Amino acid sequence: MQTIALDLDEVVFNFIDPFLAYVNEHEGTNHKREDLKVHSFAKSNMFSEEKKEYYLNKFTEEGRFFNLPLIDSANSYIHILKQHANICCITSRPKEAEGDTKDRLRLMRHEDIPVIFSTNGNKKYKILHEINANFFVDDHPLYIQEAFELGPKRCLTILFNPIDLTGALYHFSVNDWKSLYTIISKGLSS
Ligand SMILES: [Mg+2]
Repeated sequence: MQTIALDLDEVVFNFIDPFLAYVNEHEGTNHKREDLKVHSFAKSNMFSEEKKEYYLNKFTEEGRFFNLPLIDSANSYIHILKQHANICCITSRPKEAEGDTKDRLRLMRHEDIPVIFSTNGNKKYKILHEINANFFVDDHPLYIQEAFELGPKRCLTILFNPIDLTGALYHFSVNDWKSLYTIISKGLSS
C-alpha cells in the first residue's frame, strides 16, 4: 500500500476562519481571511507573532481544535482513499492539541489514521522519509517546497489551496478535494 501524508489545518479542517473569529472576539478587531496576503498573520499586518502564539495557546487550551469545521468534501474523500492507501496526518498544531485532534478523528471514524506532530523542529520533510510517503498534501508553500527538495524522491508534493505561491516548488497545485482526489487516484493506479 502507498502512503498519503495529509496536513490537517486548511486541508482537512478550516482553521483560519474560526481562529480569526476568536482573535477578533478578544481584540475587538475585524480581521478576515481575505486580509491574508501570505502565510503569516504578522506579515499580512494583522497581528504580531507573539499575539498569534498567545491566542493559539488559549485556543488550544479551550479545546477549540475539536470543533473546527471540515473543508468541503474532505471527509468523504478520505473515507474513499483509506480503502486504497495508508493515510497519515502530519500537523504543526501545538502538541497540547493532541487529545482533541485524536478525539475528533475518532468521531469521524478515523481512529486508524495516525497523527504525527511536526512541532519542536521535527520537520515535515523528515517525517515523510520516516513514513515512506508517496504523496504529501499541505497548504503551506514552505512545507511543500521543503518536501519537494528534501523529502523522499518518489513523494509527490501537492499544494492545497494556498494563500500565496511566492515562487514555491511543487509537483501539483489544487484548490479542492475533487481535484486532489483525481491526482492521487491516478498516482495510486500508475
Ligand atoms: Mg495547514
